Amino acid sequence: MDYLNERKKIVEYGKKLVDEGLTTGTGGNLSIYVPEDQVMLISPSGINYYDTKLEDVVVMDLDGNIKEGNRKPSSEFAMHSIFYKNKPGVLSVIHAHADFATAMSCLRKNVPPIHYVIADMCKELKCTDYKIYGSPEIAEEAYRVMGDDHGILLANHGLLATGNSIESALGNAVNIEFLCKLYIYAKSVGEPVALTDKEMDAVAKKFTNYGQPKSKK
Ligand code: 13P
Ligand code: ZN
Repeated sequence: MDYLNERKKIVEYGKKLVDEGLTTGTGGNLSIYVPEDQVMLISPSGINYYDTKLEDVVVMDLDGNIKEGNRKPSSEFAMHSIFYKNKPGVLSVIHAHADFATAMSCLRKNVPPIHYVIADMCKELKCTDYKIYGSPEIAEEAYRVMGDDHGILLANHGLLATGNSIESALGNAVNIEFLCKLYIYAKSVGEPVALTDKEMDAVAKKFTNYGQPKSKK
């Protein structure tokens, strides 16, 4: 079986989506891009994450052709491939119907930066216009609104995160949900104060050497 490591990650990170409370049932989908072969490995449509097996993961090219696999791919394959086609640094895409992010997406408004953790993903969390799931239109709208960011809300639907690895895409998805939860909690008792552009820029700069030195990792 080709792409064993990528298949393992799709299965493992699908379960993480459930374990992190980011999705329920068969909501959401995830993919990894292999630039050398210009293919993506994507979760199958409508199969529970805990039931997904290595052979259920679908290998597709970026024009939507299935290269390997007997399963129907995620209905959102176009919303994944559009980023791999057009943003060279993106190597993984995660979409989820997380509770707080989805609640915020129903307001169809951008979420202000009330916590610094989103600084390396975006300056404010933007929300798309509404488009039906699994359509070329939702893919184009998600791509348009994402711009240079790595996370957005899809109107009345959920969240979308990109990353240079599946680990970073999941981290961004977790931070989107965290920001939306904070916003809803803070809003329930008062008016949250957003960080300024300058404050967010300073955090983004500081993030470049956050954590352990690279060589020790
Ligand atoms: P799939 O099961 O086809 O990936 O669809 C789930 C979803 O979240 C559609 O937006
Ligand atoms: Zn969805």
